[in-house]
Amino acid sequence: MAYEVLARKWRPKTFDDVVGQDHVTRTLANAIAQDRIAHAYLFIGPRGIGKTTLSRIFAMALNCEKGPTMHPCGECDNCKGIAVGSDMDVVELDAASNNKVEDIHGVLDQVQFAPTHSRFKIFILDEVHMLSNAAFNALLKTLEEPPPYVKFIFATTEGDKVLPTIISRCQRFDLRRISTGDILRRLRFICNAEGIAITDDALLAIARGSNGGLRDALSALDQLIAFKGTDLTEEDVLAVFGLVSRGALEGLADAILKGDIPGILRAVDAFEGAGKDMRRLTAELLWHFRNLLVFQQAGVELARQDVTTEQLAVLEAQAKLAPPQRIVEITGLLSEMEGRLRSALSVRTLVEMTLIRCARAAKTVSLDEVLRRLTSLREQVIRRLAAAAPRGPAAAPAAPQCAAPSVRESSPTVPPSPLSAAEVEPEDDLAPLEDEGYAPCAEDLSSMPQSAPPRAVRVETLQDSGGQYVDEILNLAVRLFGGGPVDVHENV
Ligand SMILES: [Zn+2]
Repeated sequence: MAYEVLARKWRPKTFDDVVGQDHVTRTLANAIAQDRIAHAYLFIGPRGIGKTTLSRIFAMALNCEKGPTMHPCGECDNCKGIAVGSDMDVVELDAASNNKVEDIHGVLDQVQFAPTHSRFKIFILDEVHMLSNAAFNALLKTLEEPPPYVKFIFATTEGDKVLPTIISRCQRFDLRRISTGDILRRLRFICNAEGIAITDDALLAIARGSNGGLRDALSALDQLIAFKGTDLTEEDVLAVFGLVSRGALEGLADAILKGDIPGILRAVDAFEGAGKDMRRLTAELLWHFRNLLVFQQAGVELARQDVTTEQLAVLEAQAKLAPPQRIVEITGLLSEMEGRLRSALSVRTLVEMTLIRCARAAKTVSLDEVLRRLTSLREQVIRRLAAAAPRGPAAAPAAPQCAAPSVRESSPTVPPSPLSAAEVEPEDDLAPLEDEGYAPCAEDLSSMPQSAPPRAVRVETLQDSGGQYVDEILNLAVRLFGGGPVDVHENV
């Protein structure tokens, strides 16, 4: 028997076999069960996720000799004919190569004739967005009111190119990119059935390379079997598709999060030496940080959809290395690089410089973070002042002192004042400031005039993007510490 590629051999034959499109299969099955079948359907979604397959299963469900049924038998002549695309009553047309108005006239001619042996005459038009405007218009009238025995099923990768007048006459279904977890489970099922020994990391590498398309993943698996036989490891997949191993990718992310610039440069050097595709690397690194952000912001359950258990453990460890706003900044830098890679003359330099900027972003305190901490410090001082006020005028003005290098220590030689450093409790918000060398001076805290009204501060507008924050910070600092008018220049 002739060899059949995996994607065809394992093409789903029932709604239950379709991976990751439950929202569509459930609606279609219910429509059949309740006898509420519309006359036109439109499936929209990226390539390789099952639009054509779904169209054929739906056609089988409608025309099966035992139907219409949610569970087409797959055994009768109608089901078999539809599965291989040879049924007279189910007309499949590729609109990419048949996009002229004459082609649609051919379809309309066939609409006139009732089905020969089935319940319905079904027209499946793939890549329907490729039809010319004239072809679309020729179709409109029939689409509005087709004969009762006619059903249209349209599929397209680009829903926004289909005329609104067409969309409004169809039931529209948006198919989802299949999650990595779903692809992994399907690949594992097929490999077990085919007797292919393959590691989880190898399957993950295939799933990563397929960008949510199951057909691409199965084609990759076919290619690997031709390359290596039925015993496959992650190294085989990486060698064939130029991908970076999961471990190396996570190591690079780790180096970025820890600000380890030599580590980053060594990794880039190794990737280039091994001939890895930098665009692919960027896309994968971006995806890793996206998963990290999902883990931090939405928790384990949502992150689990796209990663394996081993990856989840790594995400958990890395999530502690940087707060979400810095991960957002890193993701922004990486996606900016992704856009610039196409036109870059020296790809390696661009990658190195961007990754170093990412490492800095992971370790540098941003201006809004400083602002947030200053605000919290100010509120803390105001609370102290309020608490100290009832003690009377004798306690109010304290002698200037600058004995303590940080708010956590106080000088034993100076009697404590109401606002002495010792009384400013170390709060969580202050701790990181000290760790990173931003400890506020105790002298400033203690010498602050208690009843000073907020002073107007003359601040020149700064031209750079961070200017507004600098102004805010200076205003806050002056209110907080009671300094004189501030003159800010652009080189501050
Ligand atoms: Zn059947």
